[in-house]
Amino acid sequence: MKKDRRGFLKLAGCAAAAGIGSSTAFHSLLRGEAKAAGLQRAGKDKEKADTRLGMAIDVNKFLENRGLAERCIRICHDIHNVPDFGNPKDEIKWLWNDKFENVFVKDTHYRQSERLLGMPVLTLCNHCDNPPCVRACPTKATFKKIDGVVGMDYHRCIGCRFCMAACPYGARSFNYRDPRGKDRNGRTFIRELNQEYPARTMGVVEKCNFCTERLAVGQLPACVEEARPYEAMFFGNLNDPNSEISRVLRDKFTILRRPSLGTYPSVFYII
Ligand code: SF4
Ligand code: SF4
Repeated sequence: MKKDRRGFLKLAGCAAAAGIGSSTAFHSLLRGEAKAAGLQRAGKDKEKADTRLGMAIDVNKFLENRGLAERCIRICHDIHNVPDFGNPKDEIKWLWNDKFENVFVKDTHYRQSERLLGMPVLTLCNHCDNPPCVRACPTKATFKKIDGVVGMDYHRCIGCRFCMAACPYGARSFNYRDPRGKDRNGRTFIRELNQEYPARTMGVVEKCNFCTERLAVGQLPACVEEARPYEAMFFGNLNDPNSEISRVLRDKFTILRRPSLGTYPSVFYII
């Protein structure tokens, strides 16, 4: 199907006719596709790109260094013009803390260690190797790049939010309001506009971009740069056995978010 606005309307019509308007039905449809694509992955590995960028987050290091997570979040949101609308209903988030039991739903059980329950875990887009959000987008506004980063073209986004329904990690946010606006007290939603990075408009979906603009000039993602001195975050090429992140993944016990979905997240957690 041609993935333009007309194609989107057709897709939306078909979805309604097929009764997949509810997010649960839509989700399971996409989950099925994700599993099917995952099964084909072994064959595709032969032709995979040289680079697949990934991240490792050491949850304990964030516990030991109080305030570090908040600093990472602040830096990320500041440089990317992420608005603060001042209420949880409209919240836009690229990087955020959530409770262990919410982040690792399937790894939590009724006799869970008290240390883990309620423990804050830094969360972001997983830049999945098999991303259901990309398949769900009718306009190709979201796409996977050759280095594995799942990007967004804000100009192509028509605000249908199919990608949000498809993402099993809640990693995408929708601008119900104009990020460049002000509240009734005259406070701007963007704390201080960074002229080097585009601000979004109302009706557009956004998420973490793995700091593509920094990678392009040889820098680490901003959150990793902040956390690296504490050995709390690592970043690099998962396909290079000699990269730092590959060494970390070989040495440490790591878990992924909802691996059974076949999305192949690129963000690993050292627990
Ligand atoms: S975490 Fe969600 S938004 Fe990010 S690539 Fe995976 S499915 Fe897409
Ligand atoms: S990689 Fe960049 S965009 Fe993503 S959470 Fe970290 S600082 Fe934010």
